[in-house]
Amino acid sequence: MLSENIKAIQAELAPFSKVKLIAVTKTKPVAMLLEAYQAGLRDFGENKVQEMLPKYEALPKDIHWHLIGHLQTNKVKYIAPFVYLIHSVDSLKLLQEIDKQGKKFNRIINCLLQIYIAQEETKFGLSQEELIAILDSQELKNLKNICIKGLMGMASNTDNFDQVRQEFKNLKNIFDNIQQNYQSENIDLQEISMGMSGDYLLAIEQGSTMVRIGSKIFGSR
Ligand SMILES: *Cc1c(COP(=O)(O)O)cnc(C)c1O
Repeated sequence: MLSENIKAIQAELAPFSKVKLIAVTKTKPVAMLLEAYQAGLRDFGENKVQEMLPKYEALPKDIHWHLIGHLQTNKVKYIAPFVYLIHSVDSLKLLQEIDKQGKKFNRIINCLLQIYIAQEETKFGLSQEELIAILDSQELKNLKNICIKGLMGMASNTDNFDQVRQEFKNLKNIFDNIQQNYQSENIDLQEISMGMSGDYLLAIEQGSTMVRIGSKIFGSR
């Protein structure tokens, strides 16, 4: 039962008041999202723009929509009117496009910068050097319609818990470093989005503030 899965995870997260649950709803039908909504969830994560749009149209408007997958610049305009947080920003060019679309819709769009922490070739994200280059850039200072709220990362898909823990620890270290050194009109570092169904307890242990959980709520895809 969906509502039982949700209750069990909420009970597990309850001691950690800073940790928000993002229900990852990709590939799941609107009826299931509605059931999760009725069980009390309001933060939904989708990895594709073309899948988020019809779900946004169909569902109540107090849902916070989180874009968690790779985002192409030419698709930003479709989600700019309503998206709550974009977790997967991995270039200055994408930030500039999000800012442009934010301006058009007269809103400030909250973003996380995705950092590459896994030892896998397939994952998107910035290196620490690329992250610093963006934060130091003159171009960033001109962007009035975005706000960088923190970092996102995905650990390696492995049973080696020590490795996963170390990858999350790395992300937390990077976060702590930049939090001390960067704070401005459009940089307000609060969130570390890390942890999925298989590793969210490890992520919380290492300082996650947002866990993105799909299969543990909705079943396997
Ligand atoms: C699918 C996905 C998740 C959720 O994965 P589960 O293992 O089903 O919890 C989290 N984050 C991202 C970026 C995803 O694409």
